[in-house]
Amino acid sequence: MRWTQYFINTLREVPADADVISQKLMMRASMIRKVAAGIYTYLPLGLRSIKKLEAIVREEMNRAGSVELSMPAIQPAELWIQSGRWQKYGKELLRIKDRHERDFVFGPTHEEVITETVRDAINSYRQLPVNLYQIQTKFRDEVRPRFGLMRGREFIMKDAYSFHTTRESLDETYQAMRDAYTRIFHRCGLDHVPVEADTGNIGGSASHEFMVLAQSGEDAVVSCPSCRYGANIEKATSKFFDDAPEPAPMIEMAPIHTPGTKTIDDVGRFLKRPTSELVKTLVFETENGPVMVLLRGDREGSEVKIKNHLGAQMLEMLGDAKFESMTGGPIGYCGPVGTKCTKVLADASLKGRANWVVGGNKRDTHIGGANPGRDFPAPEYGDFTTVFAGDPCPRCGNNLEIHRGIEVGHVFKLGTKYSEAMNCVFIDEKGERLPMIMGCYGLGIGRTVASAIEQSHDADGIIWPMPIAPFEVVVTSIGREESVVAMASDLYEKLKSAGIDVLFDDRDERPGVKFKDADLIGFPLRIAVGAKSLAQGQVEWSFRKDRAKQLGEPAAVLARVVDEVRKARG
Ligand code: ATP
Ligand code: MG
Repeated sequence: MRWTQYFINTLREVPADADVISQKLMMRASMIRKVAAGIYTYLPLGLRSIKKLEAIVREEMNRAGSVELSMPAIQPAELWIQSGRWQKYGKELLRIKDRHERDFVFGPTHEEVITETVRDAINSYRQLPVNLYQIQTKFRDEVRPRFGLMRGREFIMKDAYSFHTTRESLDETYQAMRDAYTRIFHRCGLDHVPVEADTGNIGGSASHEFMVLAQSGEDAVVSCPSCRYGANIEKATSKFFDDAPEPAPMIEMAPIHTPGTKTIDDVGRFLKRPTSELVKTLVFETENGPVMVLLRGDREGSEVKIKNHLGAQMLEMLGDAKFESMTGGPIGYCGPVGTKCTKVLADASLKGRANWVVGGNKRDTHIGGANPGRDFPAPEYGDFTTVFAGDPCPRCGNNLEIHRGIEVGHVFKLGTKYSEAMNCVFIDEKGERLPMIMGCYGLGIGRTVASAIEQSHDADGIIWPMPIAPFEVVVTSIGREESVVAMASDLYEKLKSAGIDVLFDDRDERPGVKFKDADLIGFPLRIAVGAKSLAQGQVEWSFRKDRAKQLGEPAAVLARVVDEVRKARG
């Protein structure tokens, strides 16, 4: 491809509304163009990277035994009513009406359509398992679309779905999909970790997210540097709650006057005790009334864990307006002794401890020596807190680390949630009708391309991993001399014939402009042809990653560059 025939319009200025580096660089390098919030055009260069990643994904999915199909973006509401998600999905679901006023959605995901497809096609155990995938455009009306392709509203996803007669069969496919994901991200040169993820209300099933480690990541990833434990912060646990202190003798319960101590830190300062020795109270509103959660004073509550424990649909911090009437105590002084809350949970780290210091349900008052079971009903214990860096690993006890990560892929054992709701059944060997057991496997195409840039760039631009670079090599002519243009175009033609993805920068531009653009777009390899070196029978070549220039005879450079590309394709 010749630059002058192509469509590249690089920007010198950083776009004002770009938040993260991948977005800035993709916009500046003429890879994407914003059309509306979270909605982008993939310009020719961006589309090339996307298509290359899609090809890798296809190869690995096919290799793992998944079969490609393509489902519609627009789906009838009826299917979503069958699954129950028409009610539950909320505002991320874009609902549309056709000319007959019939309801449709623009698919944010395809469990409904695939379940109907398999339900209609398969009825015997002999036809299972099946594993189907597509690479397709989704729409999710995200609350805060941002970060370019990382959190768009319209985006491309690879989504696969598998159907099984047994849990063992699902386990096998789940592992095959995990292995395929590892190969895909490895081939793209991405530094990634698979971590355990929360399964929400579906419960009982396993789920893993693939995280690319990067500062700009929206997720927090907990990992152990000693063993292979890794989990999303929503799911991560630690051993820390196991080390309950020796049981102390119970003392008498007594109020403590604690004027003006609204926060746990105030109370700690006032009583001259570390907050770890005090008990903090959170109150949430749920569809089944208020729920009180007691934690060690130095820990943070995890809304996801609390919500899962309760199996609640709705969980929100109880607002100021209703607080006192619903709990029986003012904000800042609320506690379990004499509370109006009928549901009281306590973090496992409090189990076995005696003589709690808790809110006294009266202004400027706390209570010391409060004992569960004696002074208030014994709470339900569980893991309700977020892991902190330095907490002991649940597997090996070593200190956990917390890093930022970008979720690029998600594999999930769905179980029978959709097959039961949508009556997707098979007949087993004994003639019995059973719901199919399902798995689903998502991978964000645009998000993965963007995260490659997050991980690999410098002050001048992108440094592409070869397998997803829009072009593998750029040939740059410096100057207008006939011999220069002839040599550059000869190298370009030869690279093309060798099957290399090459762009010929044949523009009539100053060398500085051409080199700046080449660095910005980030072609992994560059060959530059200039009059001076050509007079010595040489051309220059360099890698984008270190930009160290090397000179050589054209034929030798050509052979070397072809070799380097082939080596780096992975
Ligand atoms: P997130 O928690 O980031 O919103 P999710 O859990 O909603 O992600 P899934 O429903 O599991 O995501 O979708 C599978 C994959 O699709 C994700 O791992 C991610 O790579 C990609 N993806 C999801 N939402 C978006 C989005 N808004 N923009 C770009 N890619 C997305
Ligand atoms: Mg989401």
